[in-house]
Amino acid sequence: MDKIKMATPLVEIDGDEMTRIIWQLIKDELLLPFVDLKTEYYDLGLPHRDETDDQVTIEAANATKRLGVAVKCATITPNKQRVEEYSLKAMYKSPNATIRAILDGTVFRAPILVKGIDPYVRTWKKPIIMARHAYGDVYKNTEMRIEGPGKAELVFTAADGGVQRMTIHDFDGPGIVQGIHNLDRSIEGFARSCFTFALDQKMDLWFSTKDTISKTYDGNFKDVFDRIYREEYKEAFDKAGLEYFYTLIDDAVARVIRSEGGFVWALKNYDGDVMSDMMATSFGSLAMMTSILTSPDGCFEYEAAHGTVQRHYYKHLKGEKTSTNSVATIFAWTGALRKRGEMDGLQDLMRFADLLDEAVIETIESGKMTGDLALITSLPEVQKLDTEEFIKEIRKCLETKL
Ligand code: NAP
Ligand code: MG
Repeated sequence: MDKIKMATPLVEIDGDEMTRIIWQLIKDELLLPFVDLKTEYYDLGLPHRDETDDQVTIEAANATKRLGVAVKCATITPNKQRVEEYSLKAMYKSPNATIRAILDGTVFRAPILVKGIDPYVRTWKKPIIMARHAYGDVYKNTEMRIEGPGKAELVFTAADGGVQRMTIHDFDGPGIVQGIHNLDRSIEGFARSCFTFALDQKMDLWFSTKDTISKTYDGNFKDVFDRIYREEYKEAFDKAGLEYFYTLIDDAVARVIRSEGGFVWALKNYDGDVMSDMMATSFGSLAMMTSILTSPDGCFEYEAAHGTVQRHYYKHLKGEKTSTNSVATIFAWTGALRKRGEMDGLQDLMRFADLLDEAVIETIESGKMTGDLALITSLPEVQKLDTEEFIKEIRKCLETKL
């Protein structure tokens, strides 16, 4: 069989620990035998980040801007203990935060649905994709403990000297206050990413805030989305038969639980933080959740939502068998290959990505899976496989399809 051709290279961003082992296995077993893989390779493994003073992370982000599609392996975000473990020159920032800052992106998290790994919510038949705004609010807050009676005020001093002043509260005893902010520029970028992504996925977009209570702050989010939708996206949504739907977050939660799924749910930073943990658990497992970073100018970066699975890696280093789930990392690759195929008009590449996804799902549905899934599946006959065996079983299934 001739290998499937590519035109533009993918930005390949390698990472750390167990996911780095899986990365190579996926390439060797599932990609290189079938695809004439073209990538621009960036090694974000911690040793190489350290050698380059983290410049490689910036280069990878810029390459993503230039080429449009990247696939990223999970990476270590160094803390004090990692600095010692790897004798690092500095405690580098999270690579995801660096890349996000350069691409100005929004993070979308999508569950991978498989028969036998059942969502806890019975009505969910299709995935619900979470879109979380990643700037501001309580994550960039200023807060203060008030020790006794007095007046707390909100004061804004304009660059030209004008002052706006409002009373927060007249305290008659101890308490707390907090100041938060956001930027129109960031909210606009968030809105554009959401509309672009929903169109790309051919899904409706839901957005919810608490604008009945927070009339100015959350109201601004609502207004920005509304304006950008009308001015820039409504025509495309109408043409695609898609809907943009705004509702109060209380109402959204109730509707999400009763729904069949099959839409993108955009949320402010804190709402998205809390809800995405709930959604990942409700759909079954973090190892079955992909994460896509999109930028307002249409760049895409695909990765798994989980980390580098450190505990399994240490077992692997000791020569012990591991049973690490590679599904989210495989789906990151197929997502990126499919997007590349779509952008370059390569039907065969898109078909390959579809078939590999199917092979993964059929392998699990036939009862062959890694330990994490074996623990929660409702399938009656289950064969728990190790990290390599699972990928080899997927390859067998893929070969029968090609
Ligand atoms: P983790 O990699 O998400 O794993 C935590 C636990 O979840 C594992 O020990 C394992 O549970 C289970 N798990 C996660 N993914 C799994 C998979 N694919 N297959 C089977 N089980 C899986 O978090 P961590 O080990 O605490 O973090 C390791 C490193 O990842 C940290 O240095 C952190 O900075 C980094 N991280 C990176 C990203 C990213 O690059 N996107 C995201 C999060 C964290 P059991 O041990 O019970 O089997
Ligand atoms: Mg969280």
